Amino acid sequence: MDGKVALEEHFSTQLNNGYWNAKGEEDRNGKAYAQDVERRLLDPDLCVAEMDRAGIDVCIMSLTSPGVQSVIDAGQAVELARESNEHAQSFMETYPDRFRAFAAAPLQDVKAACDEVNRTVGQGRFVGVLVNGYTNSGADEDVFYLDEAPLDDFWSECERLGAPVYLHPREPLPSQQRSIRGYPELGGSAWAFFYETSTHAVRLMLSGVFDRFPKLQVVLGHLGEGLPYMLPRMQHRLDEQREGTKGSKAKRRPSYYFANNFHVTTSGHFHTKPFLEAIDQIGADRMMFSVDYPYEQMDMGGRWFDDMRLEEALKLQIGRENANKLFKLGLAPLSRAAAAGFGS
Ligand code: ZN
Repeated sequence: MDGKVALEEHFSTQLNNGYWNAKGEEDRNGKAYAQDVERRLLDPDLCVAEMDRAGIDVCIMSLTSPGVQSVIDAGQAVELARESNEHAQSFMETYPDRFRAFAAAPLQDVKAACDEVNRTVGQGRFVGVLVNGYTNSGADEDVFYLDEAPLDDFWSECERLGAPVYLHPREPLPSQQRSIRGYPELGGSAWAFFYETSTHAVRLMLSGVFDRFPKLQVVLGHLGEGLPYMLPRMQHRLDEQREGTKGSKAKRRPSYYFANNFHVTTSGHFHTKPFLEAIDQIGADRMMFSVDYPYEQMDMGGRWFDDMRLEEALKLQIGRENANKLFKLGLAPLSRAAAAGFGS
């Protein structure tokens, strides 16, 4: 299918690379893989070439994980967010028809984060905010999750601007890695990302944040980080053991928020049965195609999606129209013939 939109696609900057702590990288990733990823993170031209080959029209780009979230000093976090957003602005100007971006937000300083969201999302090409998991407020385990800090001003600004928030994985804190100790290869995207991020999303559902900001929309990658499969069991057990929402900070059941405040992308999880299960749980109007470039190959993700035996209208919806609508991209409607590569 031509004309796809992908939205968990990443870039980096030299300043961000300077912050990135490479400790453990060699354990987890092969050296050739890491070098190839770094090369592609820094060069938007390479991204455009892959988009062309994979039939991807527009990518919504974001600073690679952990990005601003891992910076301990609030002033430096503000500086990195601004530098990253300015870098994104520059490659969006070079390729105005191909790129949009999620703003990086320095949540270490909530007022500065609101200002940065307002400055970026307020002006058009930035279409939301991407947060890489918990945020450092100090060294080591001195962090906060999105439901813990007084972030209502940030949520309020996102809701006011209609800016969806992409909750992207970050590695679990060292104290929460006992269960995988001895297996460093499980520390990142192969395993730990999903339980870290799904837990973070569940915290948000149970926190009451969606009661205060009912229009807030959160996007999860990797087919929902396991939640489409596990949420029905969690809901069942809460209903059985905890009398549903009794004693909860939230007014409604988690399944309500999942159905009304969450969206799911296919990033890095190109497997048809889990994909169909995710559609079944959250609905096709909340599913969006993505790749997770450059950690995944656009060719591979695009080919999986294009070759899937799925009704063409559904493919067009998930491959393009849902993102076009949620992020107000203003893309022209694409006929099924044009999406199939005929007459476009
Ligand atoms: Zn990613």
